[in-house]
Amino acid sequence: MKLVIKEWEKYANVSFDYIDSQDALIRITFNSDDGSWSLIGRDIGMAKPPDPTMNLGWIDDIEDISEIDRGVILHEFGHALGLGHEHQSPSRRGVLTLKAARASKKSNVEAHCR
Ligand SMILES: [Zn+2]
Repeated sequence: MKLVIKEWEKYANVSFDYIDSQDALIRITFNSDDGSWSLIGRDIGMAKPPDPTMNLGWIDDIEDISEIDRGVILHEFGHALGLGHEHQSPSRRGVLTLKAARASKKSNVEAHCR
């Protein structure tokens, strides 16, 4: 999982240190009953330890990361770095147009965009 997270270091001016402490800025839980989510950017600093700032409930095995898991991890760390969803951009003015052929995983979109 650390190798996946490290991918962000190629694209953003960040580096990650991994500590096992409730003092960590990004605190990850793996609660399978709570989906996958992350607080966004500076909102992370407003969460009080030991409350999690990210949940990776869709990750089955942190030692054997599938391509789907990789996408989830990169996605949630994008949120941690301050990135929002495309459909939430104010420039969209509340309208999201999807190409049906590319929106075949409707259930995943609905599950994540809450
Ligand atoms: Zn998201």
